[in-house]
Amino acid sequence: MNLNAVNTEPGGAPEPRLVLATHNKGKLRELRDLLRGQVPGLDVDTQVVDAAAAGAPDVVETGVTFAENALLKARAVADSTGLVAIADDSGLAVDVLGGAPGIFSARWSGRHGDDAANLRLLLDQLADVPDGHRGAAFVCAAALAVPGPGAAGREVVEYGQLEGTLLREPRGNGGFGYDPVLRPAGEDRSCAELSPEEKNAISHRGKAFRALLPAIVGALARQ
Ligand code: IMP
Repeated sequence: MNLNAVNTEPGGAPEPRLVLATHNKGKLRELRDLLRGQVPGLDVDTQVVDAAAAGAPDVVETGVTFAENALLKARAVADSTGLVAIADDSGLAVDVLGGAPGIFSARWSGRHGDDAANLRLLLDQLADVPDGHRGAAFVCAAALAVPGPGAAGREVVEYGQLEGTLLREPRGNGGFGYDPVLRPAGEDRSCAELSPEEKNAISHRGKAFRALLPAIVGALARQ
């Protein structure tokens, strides 16, 4: 049997089987690369799609933890598309701030998505914190939800962390968000000085997605 023919519409285009609740093409690429060759019959380039391609609505993140927000998004997208859905939520957790900015990472300065202002405010807040107490981590929760009756019992959340130390000034031009101020443990470069491949290999999101892989494979096998 040609497994690639499974779930193919009469017109020839394979039907989507897995949705990632994001509009971020970089995250979609990461997930596709992770799943490549892992699920028999799954064509990752056409059957793993993002929220827009699946016609899924945007979901308001009303949770108070990374896991709640990731689950909320995955559940809403699974319900609206009828497909297995994955979502992630992530941020920076600073030790001396008790885990803040945490779920508020994208809007720490008050303006959602203003990376430069968020980063500047954080550095100013920590100006007096000595080097030995500048521990922080990027944290990610990745959630899987399946559609249909009894689905709530089959939800899975996994976590990943990238631990390091906060620098005193931004370094490097790569990455996004707080990348220029987090130096991973054992590195002498900031995350913004790593290549995308180096960052993905150690990233919180990569770890969380990899931990979720068995649940994804299982959910697709049961379809
Ligand atoms: P999201 O949940 O992936 O949208 O991330 C929320 C916010 O957390 C981003 O806007 C960034 O400020 C921060 N963040 C999450 N992951 C990273 C990362 O890998 N590097 C830098 N900042 C990150």
